[in-house]
Amino acid sequence: MEGKTRDDKAELDADAVVIGGGLAGQAAAIDLARGGLRVICLEPRESFHHIVGESLDWSAPELFARLGLTMEELVSSGAATFKRHITVTAPDGSQREYLPGAWLAERPWNVEIHTMHLDRLQVHNQLQQSAYDSGVVILRERAIGFKTRDRRILSVETSEGHCIRASWIIDASGAAASVLGKEFSLLFTAYGPRKAALWAYFPTEDWAEGTTLYMLNSASDYMEWIWEIPISPGVSSIGYIAPGSTVKAQRAHGLKNPDLLLKQMQKFARLNSLAEAAPPERVASTSFLCRTYKKVCGPNWIIIGEAASQSDPITGNGVTAALRHAEEASALICRYRQRESIPVLARTAYNLRVSGMGHYFNSLIEKLFYQSPLRTRLGFFSVARAYTVPAWLMNLLYSRMRPKRLLGTVIFCSALVTLRAAAWSLFQISRVFGPRPRDSRQAVYERREQRRALHTSR
Ligand SMILES: Cc1cc2nc3c(=O)[nH]c(=O)nc-3n(C[C@H](O)[C@H](O)[C@H](O)COP(=O)(O)OP(=O)(O)OC[C@H]3O[C@@H](n4cnc5c(N)ncnc54)[C@H](O)[C@@H]3O)c2cc1C
Repeated sequence: MEGKTRDDKAELDADAVVIGGGLAGQAAAIDLARGGLRVICLEPRESFHHIVGESLDWSAPELFARLGLTMEELVSSGAATFKRHITVTAPDGSQREYLPGAWLAERPWNVEIHTMHLDRLQVHNQLQQSAYDSGVVILRERAIGFKTRDRRILSVETSEGHCIRASWIIDASGAAASVLGKEFSLLFTAYGPRKAALWAYFPTEDWAEGTTLYMLNSASDYMEWIWEIPISPGVSSIGYIAPGSTVKAQRAHGLKNPDLLLKQMQKFARLNSLAEAAPPERVASTSFLCRTYKKVCGPNWIIIGEAASQSDPITGNGVTAALRHAEEASALICRYRQRESIPVLARTAYNLRVSGMGHYFNSLIEKLFYQSPLRTRLGFFSVARAYTVPAWLMNLLYSRMRPKRLLGTVIFCSALVTLRAAAWSLFQISRVFGPRPRDSRQAVYERREQRRALHTSR
């Protein structure tokens, strides 16, 4: 029911407010509504074209199935394609495939060895329908402020003048907004520089059931790369990722988004032919900073998805993380609903899981892939294996263990810390003892030659 507050805001009541109707927000809203709560989801956007998060890791299909979207149905309806492997393409065009061994699908392991690529717009629409069917009220409004007392949130104020009183708040507002991170000035750890992504959709007559990653630069530089993801039969998403400063410098030379993307695609014969056959009408762009927030759970609020931890796109872990956070956050709320507060130990366990996985994926990908020492020493294909095997295993272990309580969480997170420490040690050893990158030797040589030429001309 609607009433008026003292400062003339229309009042609404709900059991839970979910801020953001992206993937994480939709999943949490559906879970809470199915748990019997009256849920309002705030999402100001009307249009959901060009959503990223299209190539999933091996743990995601069962998380979608929980929400009623099975892999088989998504694929047969054309909203997804199977992903059976990842192919890494080196700058010279040589390729190698990475796929889980077929034996893992058999007893006693029974591991799902296929995953999928998604047409995110179709999936968004299906989830929105599920949210409506579960009784979620979606308001096209933005959360703009909070009334708080002792770190409890009492109500949420919206851009359209509503004041929503609710016992529980979930922040799924994404990495750019991170509304509760900002409200409570939460600390975060960032990984790597701010990066830019430019992407578009291309018709593809021949496409593989796998994600292809094209590595753009020589082993000695900070990594830039292109993804090719067949999101539905005959349509591939192709995107370019680079440090924001590199993209900015190219824009300063007058290059627009389509020029920037096509210039990189020209470096690989297959991508060049796709670009020439059908230059895209629109190239979308975004910038992002990989970061993981601390203390993402309060007495009656929980941060989920990218608002809690943004992982690098190359990890393919963003969607899995968003769905896991949503599942765990709504389970905590349903469990402690009568107490009206999440106990400190349960908060600590959630914080540890979110930050443990966020730090693990981001630090591993930075050390093994983006930065050069290990890549220079081991080569593209070896670091790809060194990343994919433990990443895949830890995801599998998480899905099997489903750590919930503090003890299970601490055991699991200790394993993550051990692997991170191993990657860090290898990285330091390569940095100190590794060969000097060929390109930097070349740069020194070129600088010396320039100095000599300058000297002679004087
Ligand atoms: C370039 C790029 C490529 C990626 N590729 C992959 C991939 O291949 N595989 C993968 O697994 N993951 C990938 N990810 C990550 C993945 O896209 C996300 O983790 C996933 O979509 C979950 O997003 P989310 O719901 O947390 O946030 P979002 O999708 O950003 O949703 C947040 C929503 O909150 C709304 N909002 C913002 N502020 C407010 C407010 N004040 N009030 C109300 N609503 C608000 C926004 O309108 C938005 O709809 C990629 C990320 C990037 C940046």
